[in-house]
Amino acid sequence: MKSIFGPVPSRRFGKSLGIDVIPAKTCSFDCIYCESGPTTSFSLTPQNFIACAKVLEELRAFIRKNPDGADVFTFSSAGEPTLYGPLGELITAVKKDYPQTPLIVLTNGSLLWKPEVRRGLLGADRVVPSLDAVTPKVFRKINRPHPGLEPGLIIEGLRAFRKEYKGQLHIEVLLVEGVNDSPEELSAIASTLETLRPDKVELNSVVRPPAHAGTHGLTGDGMNRAAAFFSALNLEIIGAFQSSEKTCGREDLAQRIVDTVQRRPCTANELAASLGVSFELVQRESKKLEEQGKLSRQTFGAKSFLCPPAPIR
Ligand code: SF4
Repeated sequence: MKSIFGPVPSRRFGKSLGIDVIPAKTCSFDCIYCESGPTTSFSLTPQNFIACAKVLEELRAFIRKNPDGADVFTFSSAGEPTLYGPLGELITAVKKDYPQTPLIVLTNGSLLWKPEVRRGLLGADRVVPSLDAVTPKVFRKINRPHPGLEPGLIIEGLRAFRKEYKGQLHIEVLLVEGVNDSPEELSAIASTLETLRPDKVELNSVVRPPAHAGTHGLTGDGMNRAAAFFSALNLEIIGAFQSSEKTCGREDLAQRIVDTVQRRPCTANELAASLGVSFELVQRESKKLEEQGKLSRQTFGAKSFLCPPAPIR
């Protein structure tokens, strides 16, 4: 299992070097908007999927080769990062080696009611849990959770984490047209967030090919209308990816493209910006990878995305 990927183009963090410690699509949710396809292994039990020492060695090797290769480290995957048992141990070790590089964990927030999961996240600079719905019906429709989960339990976990965690807590709300964008749901989510007092609320929508056909993001107007419900909170509507000047080596470009799109479909422009190479070079390599059956293309929202070979349904 390869655990370092990217850097990926992150609309939130710039150039983000991904740390992935979860087998693909091992998750507690099966979100309709997931960029990584349907969940194949449902779980609520953290496990030791890969040795911390192996992940650290891979990270060190990448940084040795690309000393300016990342703006941030992000624990993110085609699954749920808090399902990694030794997450706290790994976060502590990464921060010890690279104290200057911000370390972010993206999580669906569904396991924060477990004290050991909360403890494991305390060393991260920023934790970004999701909260897409607070009413059970909408929650089931958008996140399609493990049967052991319900919104009350997740909100209880977020509340406990808010009390214990001293870093930056951002909460992401991802909006899907016709699913969780009704005035009633938006108002209920906003009221819950006001009691949780996160440092920031990140309002996001569907911008890449989703797991399930017929899932659509909101328009700019729709996002602005939704934003009005969160006026009492520090809100950010997630914008376009900005490239930094840092670049990565080209020698393993084909493999980096494959590793990146396995976790997240990307346009050729995004890959060029995040990997620090020209658009033409990405196009050339991608074409070869397509011919070898290692990549496919999908159009979503009038953009062409490079995706894993198996079509996402
Ligand atoms: S979007 Fe995240 S939480 Fe939802 S199914 Fe995909 S990996 Fe799991």
